[in-house]
Amino acid sequence: MLRIGLTGGIGSGKSTVAALLAARGAVVVDADRIAREVVEPGTPGLAAVVGAFGPGVLTPDGALDRAALASIVFADQEARARLDGIVHPLVRARAEEVVAGAPPDAVVVQDVPLLVETGQAGRYDLVLVVEADLETRLARLVLRGLTEDDARARIAAQATDEQRRAVADVVLDNSGTPDALAAQVERLWAERVVPAVGERG
Ligand code: ATP
Repeated sequence: MLRIGLTGGIGSGKSTVAALLAARGAVVVDADRIAREVVEPGTPGLAAVVGAFGPGVLTPDGALDRAALASIVFADQEARARLDGIVHPLVRARAEEVVAGAPPDAVVVQDVPLLVETGQAGRYDLVLVVEADLETRLARLVLRGLTEDDARARIAAQATDEQRRAVADVVLDNSGTPDALAAQVERLWAERVVPAVGERG
C-alpha cells in the first residue's frame, strides 16, 4: 500500500486531483463524507455532539442542524475546540478503518486540507501539495459562491504555500488549465506512484 496525503489551500484543486487519481485506480478516502457520516442520526458521534451542545443543535427530525451548530462555534474558540475534540478522533478512526480495508497493493489518497497545520505529514508515504496562484484561487472560489472578502479571509487563516512546500514530496501547479493539471497527475503516477508501489511489492 502506498499512502498519499493530498493537501493544498482552499480552492487550490485538491478534489480535482483526488478525482484524477481515483480515475487511475487510487482509493480515495473522502474526509468530508466521513465527517458527515460520523454525526448521522443514531451515531455515537451525534449523541456526543448533542451531549456537549444541547438538543438545540438538532433539526425537528433528529438530524444535526449544521447552521445551529455553526452559529455556536463560530465566535467561540473553546466551543470549536470541544467540537473538534469530538469529531476529529471519530473521523480519524473511521478513515483508518477505510484505509485498513483497502487491498494491500492499493494506492490510498487522503485529502487532508489542514495536513500542514495539524502536523500530519509523517503519516504518509508521499505528501502531495496542490498550488494555484492567489488570483486564480480567488476567482475559482468566487465562482463557487464565496465573496472575495470571505475567500481572502479563509486563505489568510491557512498555512502559506511556503509552509506546505516545506513538507511536500511533490508539488502540482494548478494555475493553468484542467488538461495541464491532468498531465502533471499522469506524470506523477508514472514516475512516482507506480515505481513506489512496485518497490513495496
Ligand atoms: P476546497 O479546499 O474548497 O475543498 P479544493 O482544493 O478541493 O477546494 P477543487 O474543489 O478541486 O479545490 O477546485 C476548486 C474549484 O476550482 C472547483 O470549482 C473546481 O472545479 C475548479 N477548478 C479546479 N481546477 C481548475 C482548473 N485547472 N481550471 C479551472 N477550474 C478549476
